[in-house]
Amino acid sequence: MTEAIASSWTTGTVREVERFGETYVRLRIEVADRHDHVPGQHYVVRLRAPDGYTAQRSYSLASDPADPLIELMVECLPRGEVSGFLHDVVEAGDELELRGPIGRWFVWGGEVPSLCVAGGSGVVPFISMLRYARRMGTASHLTIVASAQTRERLPYIEELEEFGAFIALTRENHGDRVAAHIYPDELAELSKGIERAYVCGSAGFVSFVGRSLGEAGVPSDIVRVEQFGATG
Ligand SMILES: Cc1cc2nc3c(=O)[nH]c(=O)nc-3n(C[C@H](O)[C@H](O)[C@H](O)COP(=O)(O)OP(=O)(O)OC[C@H]3O[C@@H](n4cnc5c(N)ncnc54)[C@H](O)[C@@H]3O)c2cc1C
Repeated sequence: MTEAIASSWTTGTVREVERFGETYVRLRIEVADRHDHVPGQHYVVRLRAPDGYTAQRSYSLASDPADPLIELMVECLPRGEVSGFLHDVVEAGDELELRGPIGRWFVWGGEVPSLCVAGGSGVVPFISMLRYARRMGTASHLTIVASAQTRERLPYIEELEEFGAFIALTRENHGDRVAAHIYPDELAELSKGIERAYVCGSAGFVSFVGRSLGEAGVPSDIVRVEQFGATG
């Protein structure tokens, strides 16, 4: 697989739109002049109003690099300018301005035994890693921990369960696990034998997990962080 960073804008045609209640929308997009991506990379989506005003935001790829379409999963935020439009307005057949794939640091090429810890929509880049790992037969190198308030707030929960991801819901029980944030001793157990850790989610989440990984004995220099937040 080649590590591609595309710097110019291109056009994507939305082929499939699936809305999950008020919370998430999955967009599957055909991209003109597409470059292969590495799991963990993202695209920038630019919206343009008739008066020329533009707004752009980053969205991680959920798709396997071999997928003929790219897949984005967008959480609809209250009063969110771009996420609200993508959730409420976009339909199959629409065209979007896109730039990507972007990112060299938060990527996983399949070879390094890794722990991925996600909060809510932070799980999206790990879905690309999971799908890639399944196809390449390297799933044993990937341990995924995903946290959200409820099942409904965790996109791809069925796919994560099928993969054997560790799921920590904070406001409802998940199987035998009573509702709670991820405990440091859970992370300590899950991080045995890893050579790298990826953490993705809101500012509060990545800070909490960073501290917990430290308590679990994971050296900070093997931890890679991607933060989704107000500045994203
Ligand atoms: C590398 C990268 C990858 C990303 N991948 C994804 C992804 O796969 N899926 C996804 O849904 N988002 C992702 N994001 C976040 C995304 O880029 C936007 O920040 C998000 O969609 C909000 O944009 P908006 O225009 O809807 O909200 P804005 O209009 O910018 O903000 C609306 C309100 O929400 C607050 N806010 C903004 N962002 C967040 C947030 N993430 N969480 C909580 N409150 C927020 C703002 O302070 C404001 O009050 C990613 C961000 C980065 C940097």
